Amino acid sequence: MTSPNGPPPESQPDKSENDSPPPRLNFIQEIVEDDLRTGKWGGRVHTRFPPEPNGYLHIGHAKSICLNFGLALKYGGLCNMRFDDTNPSKEEEEYVQSILADIRWLGFGWDDRLYFASDYFEQLYDWAVQLIQAGKAYVCDLTPDQVREYRGTLTQPGRESPFRNRSVAENLDLFARMRAGEFPDGARTLRAKVDMASPNVNMRDSVMYRILRATHHRTGDAWCIYPMYDFTHGQCDSIERITHSICTLEFENHRPLYDWFIESLGIYHPQQIEFARLNLTYTVMSKRRLLELVTGKHVSGWDDPRMPTLAGLRRRGYTPESIRLFCERIGVAKFNSTIEISQLENALREDLNRRAPRVMAVLRPLKVVIDNYPAGKTELLEAVNNPEDPAAGSRQVPFSRELYIEDDDFREVPPKKYHRLSPGVEVRLRYGYLVTCTSVEKDPQTGQPTVVHCTYDPATRGGNTPDGRKVKGTIHWVSAGEALKAEVRLYDHLFKTENADEVPPGGSYLQNLNPDSLVVATALVEPSLATAKAADFFQFERQGYFVVDQDSRPGALVFNRSVSLRDTWAKIEKKA
Ligand code: ATP
Ligand code: MG
Repeated sequence: MTSPNGPPPESQPDKSENDSPPPRLNFIQEIVEDDLRTGKWGGRVHTRFPPEPNGYLHIGHAKSICLNFGLALKYGGLCNMRFDDTNPSKEEEEYVQSILADIRWLGFGWDDRLYFASDYFEQLYDWAVQLIQAGKAYVCDLTPDQVREYRGTLTQPGRESPFRNRSVAENLDLFARMRAGEFPDGARTLRAKVDMASPNVNMRDSVMYRILRATHHRTGDAWCIYPMYDFTHGQCDSIERITHSICTLEFENHRPLYDWFIESLGIYHPQQIEFARLNLTYTVMSKRRLLELVTGKHVSGWDDPRMPTLAGLRRRGYTPESIRLFCERIGVAKFNSTIEISQLENALREDLNRRAPRVMAVLRPLKVVIDNYPAGKTELLEAVNNPEDPAAGSRQVPFSRELYIEDDDFREVPPKKYHRLSPGVEVRLRYGYLVTCTSVEKDPQTGQPTVVHCTYDPATRGGNTPDGRKVKGTIHWVSAGEALKAEVRLYDHLFKTENADEVPPGGSYLQNLNPDSLVVATALVEPSLATAKAADFFQFERQGYFVVDQDSRPGALVFNRSVSLRDTWAKIEKKA
């Protein structure tokens, strides 16, 4: 990319030779590049992202979104947005809208290619009729329990349904009457006539249609029979002329059925490719469990900042850039594994380190009085907005006789290697002055420090040491008169165990919830934050990255801690 005023492309150095090697392709990119070489799909790359609208998207979905939309971007192809909405009892319009908003927020688009499996219900019905006519599908009167029982197990072959050999005419009649609403819910199913002795359970006459009276979020009450996932997914891919139908590993042994339906119908045949789903430590990823956390009020909603949902991560302060970076880093493989949640956090740190303005905020305030500083005086000191980004400039922060520092930055009796404030010790107030602690007032009951007295050296304005003397500690602070009160929500992992799904026999994963996953504190923040708006992000110096919550109002600021900094202080033992 050259700017209009930049040098012409010819004069730019040739980057092709000494550049680092191109990043290794993942196995799906290799398949796509092979296909492009051999012309298998006529040079087309067409993927889709097919969520079921039965919950909010989570970080696992982000992996699939980045993969599917990412392939289309990389290879100049297309990625469709398609809802797999075949189960009206669990699906809702609210979920459709949240899913679309989350994908847009992540940075992907689908132009006018927004599809719903329910758009194809009529076509799917016609294809079911075609399979009946070909003797490849039959109406079965077994109850759902019986269907399960006849199916056999992994070690035992299934038994054929007594209804398997109905005539084509009878099947056509019964299927039409199923659609017409003549039979109660669950009374009959339409099944594929495949092979009850197949070692693959999915091939044992899989159910294609069930009777279900439920109002569908798009088709209303037009249908009382609904196609099953297996009879829907591949055909939708076929209709949309998808080239690479990418799904998670659980569907590997559904692939023979995917292929069987498409071959039996004689229609365009996309290639299903499976990859390993994302699992993360200290969280759960199943939509059923996430729904339970919401309905059981274990969290404040789908967008609770502790949730692994995209809505939750966004409210926590995750940026689209950080999530895309994370997805790129973890790669795409064919074996299941669990990724450390710290990898996600690191991606956010990396992004925000570059972009977040630095500010000073004191989370647990302790008063400091600078006894030799004039009372009533306030001066403005210059503070750098982002040392990583010179273009971010600087701002003015007020300094005065009474300040607040972090309670943890003072110890009356300092442990070894404690370089912060303690009696007789000099520290640097960031962008301020060097101050030396002279005495401490304590609460007579608790013995806790209430006011720390210091003197300052007027020759050290801006934190400089003209005589070159060494000061080991630099701490942050706010001026008492100008600081603003703010609610800060300090989040930790939602679960206290690395493998949150793992429970002792008879237990529930809910036992693994971390009771300390949210701590609320009242902080004092520098006055430049008065105008901060929801979703603005900052680094609170030495405390982490924070985002303005949607609950925040002028005069009643609310910040969420997105992620802590890798804090060198963390090693110092906790104050008694
Ligand atoms: P369920 O089918 O139980 O409702 P699901 O997690 O499969 O849950 P879908 O809405 O069907 O949810 O998922 C949409 C797409 O996202 C699918 O292609 C699925 O393979 C992919 N996906 C879901 N969970 C993950 C995950 N943890 N890692 C990677 N991809 C995922
Ligand atoms: Mg699914």
